[in-house]
Amino acid sequence: MSDPIVESSAAWPEIVKRHKDASTYPAGVAYMDGQYLPMSEAKISVLDWGFLHSDATYDTVHVWNGRFFRLDLHLDRFFSGLGKLRMDIGVDRREVQSILEKCVALSGHRSAYVEMICTRGTSPTFSRDPRNAVNRFIAFAVPFGSVANPEQMKRGLHVAISQTVRIPPASIDPTLKNYHWLDLVKGLFDAYDQNAETALVLDYKGNIAEGPGFNVFVVRHGKIKTPAENVLLGITRRSVFDICGELGLPLSAEPVSISDLKAADEIFITSTAGGIMPVTRVDGEVVGNADVGPITTRLTEIYWQKHEDPAWSSPISYPVASQESERA
Ligand SMILES: *Cc1c(COP(=O)(O)O)cnc(C)c1O
Repeated sequence: MSDPIVESSAAWPEIVKRHKDASTYPAGVAYMDGQYLPMSEAKISVLDWGFLHSDATYDTVHVWNGRFFRLDLHLDRFFSGLGKLRMDIGVDRREVQSILEKCVALSGHRSAYVEMICTRGTSPTFSRDPRNAVNRFIAFAVPFGSVANPEQMKRGLHVAISQTVRIPPASIDPTLKNYHWLDLVKGLFDAYDQNAETALVLDYKGNIAEGPGFNVFVVRHGKIKTPAENVLLGITRRSVFDICGELGLPLSAEPVSISDLKAADEIFITSTAGGIMPVTRVDGEVVGNADVGPITTRLTEIYWQKHEDPAWSSPISYPVASQESERA
């Protein structure tokens, strides 16, 4: 099948063609406008306020060995965000759950990164009044992705502290999962300029806030702490609280200063994209004895064990034919 736009663009400058390669889309299945589609076909209008104004909320849950991990908590957070933004997706929680499950089942992925999104959408009359917009619900399942690659999981990530200040809670409610990422992206470029692999940005008081899509924890003399304010309340962060509670490890949410970070025995970050991930360098200096620490290792092991626990995870029913597709 020929694509008339790509064909007629033979003489166009390279810049026109460079976004045309559909093969670069991850393998997966999306749901939008009542249909299930290959990822390469899931597209929205450039007039959608989600794109034009970052007027959107979303959530990401992962699937591991064919089971959703803590889906209920992700649905709670997503629906709470919809309420705060006065959005209506037109489907209830049970339907969202079955749409997500169907995206995963159709994709055949046994380990997946599953996103649910609501954008403000567009108004049929191009009105500037957000109340006139028809909100858009999109979901998709793609292969599981991680902030840290396997080598970084083993030796620990190298992070840099950016002087960039995360958008303050008085501007945007940080507990609402959102796409206001210009501060986080600036943090990443600051980190790359210092030869680090990822970034931490500051809160409005000058303490450590979080990184691009992850929360941070520091361990010192056996005590663990994580920032309380100006952060997204991650479900992985919550899982660390739950596991520390079970193990009787002392953990508190309180300010984490730059010097707390630099004096830490261990540091780890948490995200649905990768779970609990070790950090062994901050601004080029080694953390603790430079190895992944024992508390980080212990928590990571238990976190992954919980993925088999029916209290923390729920099975997906795949069509029989696709059971083995990911291993094939
Ligand atoms: C999603 C996200 C996190 C991590 O939350 P999880 O629920 O653990 O994936 C942390 N910070 C920001 C800004 C995020 O968007």
